[in-house]
Amino acid sequence: MKLSCTECGQGRSITDPVWRCECGGLLQVEQRLGELDGEKLRRVFDERLAHRNTPYASGVWRYKELIHPELPVERIVTKYEGNTGLYDSEPVRRFTGVRDLRLKAQSENPSGSFKDNGMTVAVSQGAWLGYERFACSSTGNTSSSLAMYAALSGKASYVFVPEEGVAGGKVLQTAAYGARMIRFKGTYDDGICFLERHAAELGLYVCNSMNPFRIEGQKSIVYEIAQALNWMLPDWIVLPGGALSNGSALGKGLQDMLATGLISRMPRVAVVQAEGASPFHRMIERGLKELTPEPRPHTLASALNIGNPPSWKKAAAVLQATCGVTVSVTDEEIMEAKAVIDRAGIGCEPASAASAAGLRKLVARGIVDKDETAVCLLTGHMLKDTDALQRYVTREAADAGMPVSSALELEQVKERM
Ligand SMILES: *Cc1c(COP(=O)(O)O)cnc(C)c1O
Ligand SMILES: [Zn+2]
Repeated sequence: MKLSCTECGQGRSITDPVWRCECGGLLQVEQRLGELDGEKLRRVFDERLAHRNTPYASGVWRYKELIHPELPVERIVTKYEGNTGLYDSEPVRRFTGVRDLRLKAQSENPSGSFKDNGMTVAVSQGAWLGYERFACSSTGNTSSSLAMYAALSGKASYVFVPEEGVAGGKVLQTAAYGARMIRFKGTYDDGICFLERHAAELGLYVCNSMNPFRIEGQKSIVYEIAQALNWMLPDWIVLPGGALSNGSALGKGLQDMLATGLISRMPRVAVVQAEGASPFHRMIERGLKELTPEPRPHTLASALNIGNPPSWKKAAAVLQATCGVTVSVTDEEIMEAKAVIDRAGIGCEPASAASAAGLRKLVARGIVDKDETAVCLLTGHMLKDTDALQRYVTREAADAGMPVSSALELEQVKERM
């Protein structure tokens, strides 16, 4: 196991606390997959489904051989993350137009988003290296997740959160876990720039998605989907894209599974961006080789409010390897999809609903066929962005003529039912 540069290929030790090569390229973890046998792995992973109180009961560490084989088991910091539901939903299927659709609810993670899949690995690694201070720039979910794992392992977390455009509940959750919060005027992207420049001087272990160990952890999402479907993946995997860490991780996880023989066929990946924060989609759509950052990203889906996604090169490579596509959706389309997912009894935060909204658009355009199979990732919990929830739930309630308050009288109640 070593780190290698995604651009020039130069190698480094996994104990180097760096995420960029001297050439500027992002580093990635290179596993020794050649020594692994898919048949044996499948047996080990299936056996671990019966574990309860060992680190292997985690939906991330169940796949330790593919994620961090060199970390001593007793150094794992886990909240049994992952292990999330894979749902079939008739209303959502009808909404998107595909006949065979599952929703992978990463919203069911301990801090309420898929960031936990990666953070358990990043914090375990940082603590193993001896770090006491952990940091990230965040639109809210990364900071909640980091604050939780740092607290769990008795370490300090310092989170850089923009003053505006962040959901209040996420900020409160982060603070409640005991993180030291640095609010600033600017965007998520400004926070990343600051950390790139000053983290080493401040002795901070950075847990943003440039951290290659977060990517390793997030690969588990696609391992879980595969295991739940008896190692047969659907034709399409659809997910929202902000910083593009999840798209990068998904692609890396798929490549691992193909290389070890866990799966025999590559699904296609679709990355969905919010229109007001879609620099990656615009680059792909125009066939360009370089990403032009969006200086003032704006979307109601706060987790996607990112104008300069650090992992865009990794994500572009994933599209190439999987014959993938991108699409953008408006905030209105996102909220429409969210309402369908919420009322189906599953629920998610706005950013997550971008996946279903995007799939619907891809079907309408004939890029995805009705008879193809698909999985949409739901990335965050319904209660993560209550500001958005308030906007449409209270409006609906008013439309239905529900009074704000009323005496409990049988005849009146009957009328309303
Ligand atoms: C972080 C996040 C995203 C975006 O994922 P990236 O890896 O940044 O592309 C989408 N939805 C939710 C709920 C998130 O927290
Ligand atoms: Zn390099």
